[in-house]
Amino acid sequence: MIITMKKDAPESEIQAIIGNLTDMGLKVTVIQGSDYNVFGVVGDTTRVDEKIIAANPHVDHVSRVAAPFKKANRLFHPQDTIVDVGGVKIGGKEKVVIMAGPCSIEGEEPTQAIAKAVKEAGARLLRGGAYKPRTSPYAFQGLGTEGIQCMVKAKEVFGLPIVSELMSENKLAEFEEYVDLIQVGARNMQNFELLNALGKSSKPVLLKRGLSNTMEEWIMAAEYIMAGGNENVIMCERGIRTFEKYTRNTLDLSVIPIIKTKTHLPIVIDPSHATGDSKLVESMSLAAIAAGADGLIIETHNNPKCAWSDGAQCVTPEELKELIEKGRKIAQVIGRDI
Ligand code: PEP
Ligand code: MN
Repeated sequence: MIITMKKDAPESEIQAIIGNLTDMGLKVTVIQGSDYNVFGVVGDTTRVDEKIIAANPHVDHVSRVAAPFKKANRLFHPQDTIVDVGGVKIGGKEKVVIMAGPCSIEGEEPTQAIAKAVKEAGARLLRGGAYKPRTSPYAFQGLGTEGIQCMVKAKEVFGLPIVSELMSENKLAEFEEYVDLIQVGARNMQNFELLNALGKSSKPVLLKRGLSNTMEEWIMAAEYIMAGGNENVIMCERGIRTFEKYTRNTLDLSVIPIIKTKTHLPIVIDPSHATGDSKLVESMSLAAIAAGADGLIIETHNNPKCAWSDGAQCVTPEELKELIEKGRKIAQVIGRDI
């Protein structure tokens, strides 16, 4: 961190700032210039609030050199984190993991049918929403506990670990018992109480990027979970809001190399919510694999036009199978597999 103080800053103010920083265990080096006093601050600056320092009228400006995140930082943890989700390993250099299933769980029989079909197509995790964050309070809100139980039964038959969205801390006990990978949806990425609660959980978390959040804010959300003690976090890009109207969101594939460089966490791409259009899902999935994604989460339905939510972006199991076959060839080109 570099702090630049105005030339006429009183010595007492300078000493007070240096004192606060050294009390925090940081090392401060002073560079006396003709117009400014510049301080280089080294050590673990994650707990320093630069805005408080900048609020001092004698401070000209403060800039961070080190990233504000520590647990997620690749610098302090050079090896890739590999998250074990019910026996399926996500991250590392080998397999690209496909997660597939409906947007919303619609009952026992449809869940069994979709689980069977996505497994045959090559998916290794079953996705499905039981608690749905819908824009309209009049839209289908999910089957709740019944939906989770439909997934559990499908898991018993087909052996696919399950991923589902947790919207509130008060359902955490249910998710800890039944769900293998707890999804934090885009709308809850900065629900800090939920993130803190997940920090105490031993279950892996799939952390979606918020609708309009920067990568740093998203990594800081992961840092919340990790700072609480749960280091099993998987990042998931699902498109961000831009001015573009031809797609539901804008898929930012640059997150793949950036998240991999700045953090050691696995990164999964959701081409379904990113595009909102089943016709775009295959090409974006292939591009994501080529760019190094560790997994894809793809909304899949046996009869998309009758899906209870997000039908326009659901692919059929046949389309999923074709996508996986093509994706495998791309994965092999970059030394991976599906
Ligand atoms: C979902 O996965 O069905 C979902 C609602 O995702 P997101 O939070 O990315 O909108
Ligand atoms: Mn959906």
